[in-house]
Amino acid sequence: MHDLILLGPPGAGKGTQARWIVEALGIPQISTGDMLRAARKAGTPLGKQADAFMTAGKLVPDEVVVGLVAERLREADCTPGFLLDGFPRTIPQAGALGEELARHGRKIGTVVAIEVDDEALVKRLSGRRTCTACNRIWHLAFDPPPSPDRCACGGALLHRDDDKEETIRNRLRVYHEQTSPLIAYYERQGVLRRVDGSGAPDVVRKRVAEVVGGK
Ligand code: AMP
Repeated sequence: MHDLILLGPPGAGKGTQARWIVEALGIPQISTGDMLRAARKAGTPLGKQADAFMTAGKLVPDEVVVGLVAERLREADCTPGFLLDGFPRTIPQAGALGEELARHGRKIGTVVAIEVDDEALVKRLSGRRTCTACNRIWHLAFDPPPSPDRCACGGALLHRDDDKEETIRNRLRVYHEQTSPLIAYYERQGVLRRVDGSGAPDVVRKRVAEVVGGK
C-alpha cells in the first residue's frame, strides 16, 4: 500500500513530480488546490466559501478541506494507496488525517518533503508567463517564449496575479508559518524523507524515485 504525502513550498514542483509518481505507482493524486479550484469554477457552495481565501493567498479553513479529503479518501480508487499533494497544510489538518486513516486501519507510509530555497522559488514562480490563447506556460529564464509578451502561437502572454512577486512572498510566508512545522511533525513519526528540489524536473525526479520507488 502506498499512502503518500508530497510536501513542499509553492513552486517546489509538487504538481510536476506528483504526475509521474501516481502513474508509476497506479494510485490517485489528491490535490486539494485542484479540488478547490474546480469547486470555485463550478460555483458550488464550497467553491464560494473558499474563493476569498484563495484569492488572498490564505489557507481555506481546516474543517472545510479536512471534510473534502476525508470524503475523497473513502472512494474505491484509494484502496491501493494515494498521493496527497497540497494537503495537509497545517498541524490540525495532519492530526485529522491521521485519525481518519486510523479509523480505516491505515497510516501514512512516506512523506516526501521537496526542499527549495525561497529566492529560487521566487525566481521560478515570478518568471512564469501563461498564454491567454493556448494556455501554454513559459518561463522567461528557463523556457523563454519568442518574445516576453508573445507566445509561439501568437497569443498574448499574461503574468498571472498568483505569479507576481508580492503574492508569491505572501504564499511563502503562509508556508513557513503554517505548513513547514509539518516537516518536524512527520520527522518525529519517522516517515519523513527529504529531497533536494533544486535543478531541472528530471533531475529532481530521479531523487524522488529513490525515495518512493518507481521509474
Ligand atoms: P495550491 O494549488 O495547492 O497552491 O492551492 C491553492 C490555494 O488553495 C491555496 O493558496 C489555499 O488558498 C487553498 N488550499 C489548497 N490546499 C489547501 C489546504 N490543504 N488547506 C487550506 N487551504 C488550501
